[in-house]
Amino acid sequence: MEQNRRMQLNYIANTSVPSASGRTLPVIDPSDGQPFDELQRSNAHDIDTAVHAARKCHDAVWSKLSAAERGRLLMKLSAKVAEHADELAAIEQRDCGKPTKQARADAIALVRYFEFYAGACDKLHGDTIPYLDGYSVLTWREPHGVTGHIIPWNYPMQIFGRSVGGALAAGNVCVIKPAEDACLSLIRVAQLAAEVGFPAGAINIVTGYGHEVGDALARHEGIDHISFTGSPKVGTLIQQVAAERHCPVTLELGGKSPQIIFADADLDAAIPMVINAIVQNAGQTCSAGSRLLVDQAIYEPLLERLGQAFENLRVGPAAMDLDVGPLIRQSQQQRVWDFLSDAHAASIPIVAQGRIVDEAPETGYYQAPALLRDVPAYHRIAQEEVFGPVLAAMSFKDEDHAVELANATQFGLVAGIWTRDGARQFRMARRVKSGQVFINNYGAGGGVELPFGGVKSSGYGREKGFEALLGFTTLKTVAIRHG
Ligand code: NAD
Repeated sequence: MEQNRRMQLNYIANTSVPSASGRTLPVIDPSDGQPFDELQRSNAHDIDTAVHAARKCHDAVWSKLSAAERGRLLMKLSAKVAEHADELAAIEQRDCGKPTKQARADAIALVRYFEFYAGACDKLHGDTIPYLDGYSVLTWREPHGVTGHIIPWNYPMQIFGRSVGGALAAGNVCVIKPAEDACLSLIRVAQLAAEVGFPAGAINIVTGYGHEVGDALARHEGIDHISFTGSPKVGTLIQQVAAERHCPVTLELGGKSPQIIFADADLDAAIPMVINAIVQNAGQTCSAGSRLLVDQAIYEPLLERLGQAFENLRVGPAAMDLDVGPLIRQSQQQRVWDFLSDAHAASIPIVAQGRIVDEAPETGYYQAPALLRDVPAYHRIAQEEVFGPVLAAMSFKDEDHAVELANATQFGLVAGIWTRDGARQFRMARRVKSGQVFINNYGAGGGVELPFGGVKSSGYGREKGFEALLGFTTLKTVAIRHG
């Protein structure tokens, strides 16, 4: 095993380079807990090299391209990623433990992000503003310059697509710090970008620990904007570091999103989506529907149906492509166990659990999906992100109570509302504090086009859709007095 490990290098200015420190990190397969590759454990020196390469590219090449030329390059990259979708999915499957269908869906989402932002490049423009007699006033949307992207491990390809795709489309060049558990697919995407003609320095990948290389990226004077996706805790640190030099930040943080089911809901439609929203990616999804709020009139029958469905869920190695794969790492598994043991200590009942298949190696990081009922609204399992396949159910007595429970966490990322009553759909959508609201669906199939982001501790700023481009640019107002 040891001898077969490959050395993964940083990718800076279209060149594979070792880190300055010469130190490495192991890459572990979550399905069996075994190391199979080595990553660079980079430091501030590597970030400095990448930022300089990016700046040079921005000033000498990228800023001279027309918006249409940037769009053509992104479109070529989209096509190239499509050609390599199976390869990228296989890389991410081993690196992150994603079942085949999920890994493949992530690669296709990456194709779609590049395609969407390719088409958006030459549609991003400023405005003219009616003003005083003798003046003409216009606004220009200008790129920040060199943008830093700190990416989590749960959806590396998707988050790279939405964040780096949007930044490039708006005219920025990028320095990317992937999560230490999920770098391999992104290094490969950067290589593919070079193959289709992206200039050296437009996309730079530097790997390593967050507190070392991520911190160095956030602090670097040459970074003009930071796009951070990750935990609220690290989001706070990033914000503090960025504040010292007034660097703009987009924060895409966690969630504790409610699925709100009224008595008149179409349960046949809701049940599969409720399940998928908590077991997709083994529950390691920022927008996971991790709280189930149910009208008391249908609480018992709904839990019974859901319980049966949970018992049928199968968990196993990513390559078996079952309902649920492994968690990303041992510490994540321990985190989920800690939540469940707290729930047990509080006598919170488990209605049903899925099953880990016999073929799953004991050294892999598996967790059977669990449905918990009568969860007190302020217990930590109803308040904090578990980031595992654990659904916390509770009942509500009327619409006001449903709103109160829905808004009773520090988060506000996504909400699902299930009802056939049209007026209630609008009332609820207005009253729930959340960045996205889905009515009689959850996630709308991913929605590359749909602005995404949170309120409260779920962060601020928006990624995805055209809206993201506004965040990746700054607005310059030009007033001309011509008489
Ligand atoms: P994390 O905050 O631990 O790490 C995210 C990234 O930050 C990683 O690349 C990590 O190396 C880096 N990092 C860690 N410490 C750092 C520091 N001191 N300075 C700079 N960078 C640092 O999060 P995670 O465990 O990788 O991901 C899970 C979290 O991400 C969850 O909270 C989840 O909800 C959130 N998330 C949010 C979205 C969204 O769009 N809102 C999407 C996916 C994940």
